[in-house]
Formats: sequence, structure tokens, C-alpha cells
Amino acid sequence: MASKIESSEYTELSRVTGWFVVLRWIAFAGVAGTLGAVRLLGLFELPFALLFAITSLLGLLNLSFTAWLRLGRRAVPSRRQTAAFFHAQIVCDFALLFLLVYFTGFLENPFCTFFVFHILMSAFIFSSRVVYAYVGALVAMVTGAFLAEYLGLIPHFQLWSRGGSAAAASYLGQNLPRAAGLVSLLLISAYLITSIKRRLEEKGQRIEVELDRYRNLDKIKSNFILQVTHELRGPIAAVSGYHQMLLRGLGGESPPKSLDIVRKAEHRTDNLLTIIDEMIDYAYMKSQGEVGRVRGRLPLRGAIEENLELLETQAAAKRITLAANCPKDLCVSATRDLLKIILGNLVHNAIKYSPPGGRVSVTAQGEGREVHLLVSDQGYGIEPEELDKIFEEFYRTRAARQLERDGTGLGLPIVKRAVESLAGRMSVYSELGKGSTFHIFLPALEATDEQDPDHR
Ligand code: ADP
Repeated sequence: MASKIESSEYTELSRVTGWFVVLRWIAFAGVAGTLGAVRLLGLFELPFALLFAITSLLGLLNLSFTAWLRLGRRAVPSRRQTAAFFHAQIVCDFALLFLLVYFTGFLENPFCTFFVFHILMSAFIFSSRVVYAYVGALVAMVTGAFLAEYLGLIPHFQLWSRGGSAAAASYLGQNLPRAAGLVSLLLISAYLITSIKRRLEEKGQRIEVELDRYRNLDKIKSNFILQVTHELRGPIAAVSGYHQMLLRGLGGESPPKSLDIVRKAEHRTDNLLTIIDEMIDYAYMKSQGEVGRVRGRLPLRGAIEENLELLETQAAAKRITLAANCPKDLCVSATRDLLKIILGNLVHNAIKYSPPGGRVSVTAQGEGREVHLLVSDQGYGIEPEELDKIFEEFYRTRAARQLERDGTGLGLPIVKRAVESLAGRMSVYSELGKGSTFHIFLPALEATDEQDPDHR
């Protein structure tokens, strides 16, 4: 079924068609003027009546193309209709130019090189496959006509010395068409190439504007998520606080069954808070503009220890040992918040996807122009074919979905974005049943980096 094209797409196509129509009017005037001049000067004996008829047909066709354009403005055509319209234009142009050239000496006529313009124009709208199909048809037409003339199957209309005309044999008669052909070839090529370039530049600018608009919308959306999740976090954190008060007995003695229910409610509330925190980090990272613009000097050892402390309770619940190994004076160009996002998520995952009793380590070392940060665990590991998917938004491995019900699939995309905003990159190595290592490469500090990291 033919689908309707978008009106913006139609505007773009009608712009190109409008341009073709203008070019065709210029060609029409050029051909009519040249034929008139040649006839007046009596340089060549040509089938003028036929040639003027073909030229009038060109004018009529261009009128109908203009009318189609006007109609299209009222009722936007389907994709198929638009494609058919473009093919019709190119085919008509090929056919008419072919006839004009054929009746004016064919290969003798320097204007037969003008087919190249049609190829250029078709390349502007159609795919390479279609362009090559047109070139193939043209080659077949030219070769066929050439052979047919050679074999005497069709007559040859001579341009030069037809009927032995003295004017045609003169220097002017010999060289005027060549000079005119060459000059118009140069002028038209220059015009076409510069206007194609201008059109491409305009298109590029329009795409830039659209991209800017899209980026702004995306930023508005992220800010909205950020605001909503912040609003949600407050009451949910309060509910979690009340659960903890009840569990500590601050609300008086509760029967064991009630405490069990509160413990379960607290577990779910805590999961909800983790999800909200991930969404806040996600929206925050999305609302940040370009990547690689964060500057600041952050001592790494302190930051690692701070983050491991925050996850000690989670690790202790699974009897997992947390270990840090980082040279004392190693610094990175980062903010505390971004490092918290990176380490918090990676260590949280390392604990979450490990069986009880393992070990999770964070190692950092400087090497040349890079700082290497490694988070390793002895957990379940990741299937090799899933390794490149885990950084996609909302992706959770099959095993993770079975093992751990809770998770958003947002943690690693957030980490990746945070690493990129520090102009770094990351990779992962994993062996099923043995564990995983997330490797982060951050650029080493430059002399120009500020002393104090900025805060969110
Ligand atoms: P989730 O909220 O599911 O933890 P993440 O984006 O943090 O989302 O991680 C995406 C997926 O990558 C997880 O669902 C899990 O399958 C896998 N994954 C992440 N870290 C580890 C790890 N340390 N060990 C094993 N699998 C992991």
C-alpha cells in the first residue's frame, strides 16, 4: 500500500522538483534560442520543424510538472506517486534530449555530452542502484542508435556539411557548435556543482537545527525525570526511615509476625530507592551536555574508600569481602559525584551478581597517560554473547533476570556515560562461573586541571 509522505519530506522533494523545473525552463530557452539563431544564420540544414516540435513538447511537459507541484501543495502525494513523478521527469528529459541530439548530428553534436547533467541530477534524488540503471539505459540507447546508424537501419542527420552548405563548411560553421558546447558544458557544470553543494550545505544546516531541537527536547525530558524522581525519593526515603524505626523497636514492641512484614516492606522499599537513585543518576547523566568536559583533581584512594564504605552493609549481608588497592597520591580529573556513580554502580553490581562469601576488589593504577580502574568480582560471570549488550539501556542478561528479580538495566549505561563524560572508556572481561572485571581507562591529570573538583 502506498504510504503518504510527511509534509516536511514533501517540502524537501518539492524544493528539488522546483529546482529541476527552473533548470528545465533555462534549458528550454537555451534550446529554442539556439535553434532560432542557427536557423536565422542558416549555418546548418536541420529538420527545424521537428526540432521545434520536440522543444515545444519540453515546454509543455515542464508546464505539467509545474502544475503537479502546485497540486501536491494541496494534497500531499504518496511516496510511490512522488517516486513515479521523479522517474517521469528523468525519463522525459532523457528522451527529449536524445531526440534533440539525434536530429542534430547525434555523436557529431558536442551537446550530446549533456546527458552527464541528467546523471548528476538523478544522483541527487535516487539511490546508486537507480543511477546505474539509468546510466545502463543511456549507454544502451547511445550504443544502439550508433550501431543502427552505422548499419543504415536509421538515417543519420549530419550536422556538418549537410547538403554541402558553404556556411557549414566554414570555420565558424565547423567550430561554433564545439565552442558553444564546451562553454555551456563548463558553465552548466559550474552552476550544477555549486548549487548541489549549496543544497547539501543547506540540508546539513537544517539537520543541525533539527538535532539541536531534539537535544533540547531530550534535555527537557531528562530534567523532568530528574525532578519527578527527586520528588518521589523524599517520601519513599521517609517510609524506609519509619520501617527502620519499627525494626529497631522505636515504635514500641511489635509481634514477630508484624516485624517480619515490616522487614519485607523495607526490603521492597530499599529496592525502590535503588531504582529511583538509578533513574536520578540516569537523568542527571543525560541532562549533562557534551562528554569529556569535566575537569577537577580528585584523589582516587579516598574516593574509592568512601564508596566502598557506603556498600559495606550490602557486602556484609552476603559475607563478601571488599578490598581496595590504590597508590596514595594517584589523582584523576573527575568530580566526586561522577566517581560515586561509576564505583557505586560497579561495586553494587559486583556484590549483587556474586554468590555469598566471595571477594570484590577495586584496583587503581596510573600507567603513562592513563589511569586504570578495575572492579573485579568472583561472581556468576556473563555469557560471552551478552557482553556487548550489557551497556545498552534496560538490558539485563537472562541469568540476571533469573537470579535477581530487582534491577533496571540502567546501571551500566549510566556508568558508561559517566566514564565518557570524563573522556574515558571502559571494557569488561568475564568468565562464566568465575567472575567479571570491569576495566575503566581515565585520562591522567593534565597540568591545567583545577585543584578542586566541582560538585553536583
Ligand atoms: P541491573 O539493574 O540489571 O543490574 P545494569 O545496567 O547495572 O543493570 O547491568 C546490566 C546487566 O549486566 C545486569 O542485568 C547483569 O546481567 C549484567 N552485569 C552487570 N554487572 C555484572 C557483574 N558484576 N557480574 C555479572 N553480571 C553483571
